Amino acid sequence: MLFRLRRFIVPLMFLSFLLSGCGAIEKTTPPTTALTQTDKGSLLQVHYIDVGQADCILVIAPNGQTLLIDGGNGDDGPEVVRYLKAQGVKELTAIIATHPHEDHIGGLDTVLRSFPPKQVYMPNATSTTRTFEDFITAVNASGAKKFRAKAEVKLDVPGLVGVFLAPISEQYEELNNYSAVLKISFGKMSFLFTGDAESVSEVEMLKNGQVIEATVLKVGHHGSTSSTTSAFIKAVSPKFAVITVGVDNDYGHPTQEILNKLENSRVQVYRTDHEGTIVATSDGEKVTFMTSKLSATDKPLKPVPALAGDSVMISSIDLSAEVVTLLNRSDTVVNLTGWKLVSEVGNQIFSFPSGTTLPGGGILKVVSGTNAHAGTDVLVWTDSNIWNNQGDPGALINAEGQIVSQK
Ligand SMILES: [Zn+2]
Repeated sequence: MLFRLRRFIVPLMFLSFLLSGCGAIEKTTPPTTALTQTDKGSLLQVHYIDVGQADCILVIAPNGQTLLIDGGNGDDGPEVVRYLKAQGVKELTAIIATHPHEDHIGGLDTVLRSFPPKQVYMPNATSTTRTFEDFITAVNASGAKKFRAKAEVKLDVPGLVGVFLAPISEQYEELNNYSAVLKISFGKMSFLFTGDAESVSEVEMLKNGQVIEATVLKVGHHGSTSSTTSAFIKAVSPKFAVITVGVDNDYGHPTQEILNKLENSRVQVYRTDHEGTIVATSDGEKVTFMTSKLSATDKPLKPVPALAGDSVMISSIDLSAEVVTLLNRSDTVVNLTGWKLVSEVGNQIFSFPSGTTLPGGGILKVVSGTNAHAGTDVLVWTDSNIWNNQGDPGALINAEGQIVSQK
């Protein structure tokens, strides 16, 4: 229970951070609690809400219009409602029910009753389950205008440029392939929401000729091998991927095969089972991520004396050049698998790729911002600016979750 509560209390802290105008994007003023005029109306937010082994994604347009893609399982409904309220959402402009499976539409009847939307998009798919009946009853009661989600249909939400890429066929054997797949474009950035679309649908999207390239990919079907074919990843060529998945779920999602594919394609992966709720914020030029776990104000971590093997320290953080230099003070190699680097002001977390090692006496640079691709012997965090130039402590955390160095 504590965990479930925490899952939704922690995101509240995003609000004050988001309202601060997003410290991750170059700021010269310290975070405040009010949304600045510059930021108001200029940022798109995508919240990949941690609802365990299920999907629930909130998109907030720069003009405040809102879109909810799926609503988690039935039990998640009240929590999703609380999350929306905590984000200051007063009404939902549109809801997309990607396909009639419980882990996507289960919580939507509750959400529909609390936030009757203006529009509901869904594919031409039905199910005989009680969950689906409850969902349809709630849609009808809400008075929302109903739209059929299918390839080439445009999203009719002011402030959001969105188009459906799937479904393409009239009928599928597998319900997952009816998934409404939406691409939202914002300036130079774009987000692809795939529901549980499997390879059958991916092949159709590749053939259909719509541009499926996107900066951020919501990985299909919780990271199952049924989706995310190599050809699809290649065509989407995302920089970031988000996997919506439950801790220790019964399905073995996400599969190592898909994680390997993403790693080989140099895609930075965020997972709701590891990071909790994940919020992507974009100004149209770049995308910045924040995650609810390891929050600055929810510190589960206490500094501990460096352990024998933890001889790695942050030797410097160049806030304006966005370069963090790590030094291994010992003469033995240290494996950084499972280690994290945290920017405490923005609460952004960099997870070292598994297999990263630092030889004795060696240094390692973690770069972000415009320098992200400046060198070959560096680890790239993100193209976004992470460090607040006004001062931003960094912490290095080992695989056991202990802070081994702060700067
Ligand atoms: Zn699903």
